[in-house]
Amino acid sequence: MNSKKTKTPLLKEKYKILFVSSELHPFAKTGGLGDVSNSLPKALKALHQDIIVLIPAYPFAIKKAESIKCIAKIDLPIKGFPGHLGLPVIEGKTNSVSIMETKLPGSHVKVWMIESELYNRSGTPYFDADGMEWEDNDFRFALLNYVAVEIAMGRTSLKWQPDIVHGNDWQAGLVGVLLEHEHSTKKNMRPATVFTIHNMAHMGVFSRERFDALELNPHLWNHHELEFHDDFSFIKGGLVFSDRVNTVSPSYAKEIQSEEFGYGLSGLLSYRSERLSGILNGIDMKEWNPAKDTMIKKNYSIKTLANKASNKSALQKHFNLPKRKNTLLLGMVARLVYQKGVDLLLESMDDILDLPFQIVILGSGDLELESRLRQWVNRYPEKIQIQLGYDESLSHLIEAGADAFLMPSRFEPCGLNQLYSLRYGTIPIVRKTGGLADTVTHASEENLADNTATGVVFHEAEGSTLIDAINLTSLLYQNKDVWKKLMINGMKQEFSWKESAKQYLKLYGQAIKDRNKFKKHTSVTL
Ligand code: ADP
Repeated sequence: MNSKKTKTPLLKEKYKILFVSSELHPFAKTGGLGDVSNSLPKALKALHQDIIVLIPAYPFAIKKAESIKCIAKIDLPIKGFPGHLGLPVIEGKTNSVSIMETKLPGSHVKVWMIESELYNRSGTPYFDADGMEWEDNDFRFALLNYVAVEIAMGRTSLKWQPDIVHGNDWQAGLVGVLLEHEHSTKKNMRPATVFTIHNMAHMGVFSRERFDALELNPHLWNHHELEFHDDFSFIKGGLVFSDRVNTVSPSYAKEIQSEEFGYGLSGLLSYRSERLSGILNGIDMKEWNPAKDTMIKKNYSIKTLANKASNKSALQKHFNLPKRKNTLLLGMVARLVYQKGVDLLLESMDDILDLPFQIVILGSGDLELESRLRQWVNRYPEKIQIQLGYDESLSHLIEAGADAFLMPSRFEPCGLNQLYSLRYGTIPIVRKTGGLADTVTHASEENLADNTATGVVFHEAEGSTLIDAINLTSLLYQNKDVWKKLMINGMKQEFSWKESAKQYLKLYGQAIKDRNKFKKHTSVTL
């Protein structure tokens, strides 16, 4: 054996990383992507990486940013999109953008926000005030990609050029596509590209007309590259062209290679399986710490578990539920959509509400699911309550105050709430899928005996199996010793970002190696 193995010079310890995302907590968050975009860069910074997060300058993001200043103007190699929407082309608005710099609160991570008319509107990153998708989301996020590429290729006055561009979800799916183009035509080496899938269900699919309007190279219109069933897909671009692709749990990385979870791209994902991996998300251990959390009623830890009860009564009070110390209180915080298994819960509600449980739900999403939940609240207000909308501090109180946490997801790339639940001694009830399968260990007799059990795991996506799982939870709850054991097992789990961040560093190294040798399965004539 050669003991003098030297590191390949490409795998340097310190990378310059441009992290491209449409969400970043606390500036803009609709789900897990916002959390990951906050925590992973912070963890990479702690590992001495030079990382900058690039997001759109939504007005609600700018409002939350401290000491924000304009540091550059970037001219883009595009004519400008608004004309294609029948809107007047505003000279200098979309073919030139400003970069505003701020810091991620509580850290030294730099954040660059792209200022453009396309982002200057209220609502959420994706929806207007009525919950309708912005009609020009393709333009809005293509702009994010075009700006990332200018920075990546060093064509700005920013004096900073990354080794890696790390794109997230469909909104950043074109970075790899555009950079591959650069690679084929320029002498200077493009940065390596990593693309992370946080959710395969959102694919960024748009029409041929919009493809042309986005000023993408017409040669990319073929089914090996961007074309997708007569439309085209941003996420497909990320999957085909990035040097490395990963998703947020090992199980989900496997699942998306099956027809059921691959949304028509399972073949491509299997084809790229050697470059596809799963890295579990961590959680922000400071923000989600029951011993220090300022958003809950009373702090607690493994040593002061009894204090958790104060949070339960505060939660019951918040929702106007009868204060019952010994009634099993189930919590749920989620986007109220099909993915999260809300329909399974609705299907079994009759049976669940027959039993002596209380349920509190925080979330918003599908209007029909919301209204069906409200009907149950009207019928059984002393048993089920729901708060529609987004409320960060209430989500903390639910994690602290509920006895058990419901996540009956049909699929779950990683899931964060079950990790928060484990940390808060709140027993997760989860379906065995994706990251839920990778992080929660079922309370079987065997697992209880060897102290590995942390929650209740059920298999089939059916109302009846969910009821079985809730019934089992209730049985476990009645045995205080067993329940306490489950709580403590969960609270001892380690889901800090440090380990995951180290795996991302490894992935960046692999991407840099692959950048040189990676040959796409088709060649693009550009
Ligand atoms: P997803 O990204 O699919 O929505 P995750 O479990 O990965 O699901 O992450 C969801 C994140 O969003 C968690 O931090 C959760 O607490 C938060 N969240 C979701 N809905 C709400 C809400 N209505 N109010 C507060 N936080 C919410």
